[in-house]
Amino acid sequence: MGKDFLETPVEYLKGVGPKRAELLNAELNIHTFGDFLSYYPFRYIDRSRIYKVSEIEPDLAYVQLKGTISNIRIIGEKRARRMSAFFRDETGEIELVWFQGIKWVEGTILPNVEYVVFGKPTVFNRRYNIAHPEIERVEDFSKNITQTLQGIYSTTEKLKNRGLNNKNLVKLLKELIVQSQGKIHETLSDEILGRLNLMNREEALRNIHFPDDQAKLQKAQARLKFEELFFIQLSLLNDKLFRQQKISGFLFSTVGEKVNRFYKEKLPFELTDAQKRVIKEIRKDLGAGKQMNRLLQGDVGSGKTLVALMSMLIAMDNGYQSCLMAPTEILANQHLVTLTRMTEGLDIRIGLLTGSTPAARRKELHAGLQSGEVNILVGTHALIEDPVLFKNLGLVIIDEQHRFGVAQRAKMWSKSDNAPHILVMTATPIPRTLAMTLYGDLDISVIDQLPPGRKPVKTLLYNDAARLRIFGFLKQKIREGRQVYIVYPLIKESETLDLKHLMDGYESIVRDFPLPEYQVSIVHGKMRPADKDYEMQRFIKKQTQIMVSTTVIEVGVDVPNASVMVIENAERFGLSQLHQLRGRVGRGADQSYCLLMTGVKVSHEARKRLETMVETNDGFKIAEVDLQLRGPGDLQGTRQSGILDLKIADLIRDEKILKYARNLASDILHEDPSLALEKNRPLARQLAVMKKDFVNWSLIS
Ligand code: ADP
Ligand code: MG
Repeated sequence: MGKDFLETPVEYLKGVGPKRAELLNAELNIHTFGDFLSYYPFRYIDRSRIYKVSEIEPDLAYVQLKGTISNIRIIGEKRARRMSAFFRDETGEIELVWFQGIKWVEGTILPNVEYVVFGKPTVFNRRYNIAHPEIERVEDFSKNITQTLQGIYSTTEKLKNRGLNNKNLVKLLKELIVQSQGKIHETLSDEILGRLNLMNREEALRNIHFPDDQAKLQKAQARLKFEELFFIQLSLLNDKLFRQQKISGFLFSTVGEKVNRFYKEKLPFELTDAQKRVIKEIRKDLGAGKQMNRLLQGDVGSGKTLVALMSMLIAMDNGYQSCLMAPTEILANQHLVTLTRMTEGLDIRIGLLTGSTPAARRKELHAGLQSGEVNILVGTHALIEDPVLFKNLGLVIIDEQHRFGVAQRAKMWSKSDNAPHILVMTATPIPRTLAMTLYGDLDISVIDQLPPGRKPVKTLLYNDAARLRIFGFLKQKIREGRQVYIVYPLIKESETLDLKHLMDGYESIVRDFPLPEYQVSIVHGKMRPADKDYEMQRFIKKQTQIMVSTTVIEVGVDVPNASVMVIENAERFGLSQLHQLRGRVGRGADQSYCLLMTGVKVSHEARKRLETMVETNDGFKIAEVDLQLRGPGDLQGTRQSGILDLKIADLIRDEKILKYARNLASDILHEDPSLALEKNRPLARQLAVMKKDFVNWSLIS
């Protein structure tokens, strides 16, 4: 087979050339004909629709009007020099303006002739105008508009400056579509095309750019969405299958002394049913001789640490070491403390490795890990950067809390000759569709139950006017013996100012709580780790009653006696972040409160976030709303994944297609694991094309 037409560099398309090609590369990531063909319109306009001037609204992207043009004149000086004209129909009038091509306009437009005018209305001086409209005489318009649905492409300032505006992109694509006739391979099998009654690929690509009509456009969209989601699933499931067949995992065949003694002597409470179920699922993986790759989802406070610990004890009973990776030092420290406390007397050596572990200690630790003396290593991702070698690492647990990227996970492989079992724990529930895509090659366990006796946190929304009342409330709670978090936003872009707000807040609290028995801790990211830890410890030991901090306490910190959280400028936090923060309270038996403080002016989207927080404690619901508000590309931790650069499918709206695609991919691989059957040839070929472009998922946990 010759070189695929779709791989031709975009430079060679008539009208592009090397300079524009470079721009298309840089601005839109379009390198080849294939890339260009899959640069789809972001919307369509209906050129058969004529609007009235009176119907123009600010959020209309484009309007098309019919009427006459008068009063053409040049106004303004120098850079503001422009040509202006009035356009009028029977319902009103608007201004048309040109900054360039004035000569042409002057010579072409005649009074008292009916024109169709097309362009984007903008508001200037509280009146609508259209800059650089497309203008045609009515009779030409009816002749020329053969295609009523037209795609609109997003473009960038840079591209527009070099003449690659929407209109010219359309021109180029028209040329490309003509050239590509007969040269676009089908990627789906006849069987799938037939079963789902899908449009073929060439026709779909033509219609997505230049739809014959609404029905064809819909069929084209359906086909391309399906194709996109189907191949992601096929690829993920194919990798999973490959791993299951080719990579043998360490066999943890027994459940021995450590697990049993822990269970009988140490476990301070009854496991929840959900914890039991998940541990069973993990045990089944570990005992099967295959390598485990499991995602454990469980809301904040659902008791994932215990599941992690029991899994590590199973590893130990089978003679293997484990490591537990946390996203921050504070959390790593806390894991160390928790694990050490829970396993006291069981003769288990637990090491800690973070960025601030001193060199001498580090050396000692390395030796202990290599000799096998250290059984469990807790750490931050210093643990992957560091050249640690284990004697026999059998299990890696990543307390992901949405901060570990796919690439970081992949590095864990280099720590061991054989692939260790991998358990990824996430505290931000991930909407199903996202999980299927982002973690589609992992098996999934869910802890969908909180330990008994927890009262749902009461969440209330306040603005500044309520501050005095809230201070009174905090005092009362502290008198009752509770502790309080006060959290301030701190983001990079406004770091200095944010830090000042935090310090001001701290000072005013110190001032307003003048009773000697009240002490205040402060923790923020700019402090030295040792100071941070000191302040944390004071709070944990109840030496302080109030913890003023930034989101560094977001992850994992566990102080059951803290029952009130005040979140300042709550409108500035993301939804999943708010949910994570709120998870710090409600851990003890007392009724807990989360008080969201906001300014008076809050954007519509922020209001929706805050209302969602007030309405529900259910992390999965919150995750769904988050996905709807922000779209998958923006969710924390998903950006670097690449897999979510979807070109046409939408994980919210196309959930049904996604599920169908996944099931179908699974059925096909079940019947034909290596895609060797004649009918599946196109699938195998397309998969190979994808593998060339994508991360090698089979090497990633
Ligand atoms: P997360 O899932 O957020 O990591 P943790 O593992 O920190 O949650 O657990 C939250 C709290 O719940 C801890 O104080 C832990 O000791 C407690 N806990 C965990 N499992 C149970 C249980 N089955 N019954 C009672 N308390 C539990
Ligand atoms: Mg945790």
